[in-house]
Amino acid sequence: MRLVLLGPPGAGKGTQAQILVSTYSIPQLSTGDMLRAAIAEKTPLGLEAKAIVDRGDLVSDDIVSGIISERMDQPDCANGFILDGFPRTIAQAEALTHMLDRKGLHLDAVVEIKADPNVLVERIINRAKESGGARADDNEEVLRKRLEVYSEQTAPLVSFYSEQGLLKSVDGMAPIEDVTVAIKSAIS
Ligand code: ADP
Repeated sequence: MRLVLLGPPGAGKGTQAQILVSTYSIPQLSTGDMLRAAIAEKTPLGLEAKAIVDRGDLVSDDIVSGIISERMDQPDCANGFILDGFPRTIAQAEALTHMLDRKGLHLDAVVEIKADPNVLVERIINRAKESGGARADDNEEVLRKRLEVYSEQTAPLVSFYSEQGLLKSVDGMAPIEDVTVAIKSAIS
């Protein structure tokens, strides 16, 4: 199973991805997690990405496409994966199509987790409090920037994938378990 989870910051992509990982025994490939790990380890990529991530902008398409393509070649991705936070631009979606073509693979579905922007601000501010400020980009100002970047650069992927017949939309405002049920039934 090769899935993409699409949705604004705070919609619950990471939460749902973790649940799906154990149901389908395939890994979650989160570009956000990969970038945060690189930043924490101060690798050349992390040093380059830090300021961009901290202000809520997008890291370059080539960088994230490259790290995802390499990650997909790891043995644990043999039976599939859940992409969380990638693709985030039309250019990344096109890069994804090409990398999958080259590897002789295709996506099974793109699940859009729909959410109300007003609730997202509240959710993320709470997440920031609970994690004790673990994420430098989980503050209100940067979050508003991330939501703006989402609606400008990532939301167009909804029609991109809908035109390819891959899009399934679920209501991300429902309780976590209900969202999981909706996703499973949409992709089964
Ligand atoms: P969220 O979905 O909560 O906004 P993520 O953990 O997916 O957060 O991403 C955090 C940050 O990492 C983004 O705001 C962006 O700076 C960077 N990032 C993650 N994925 C990508 C991507 N596919 N392309 C460019 N930048 C990305």
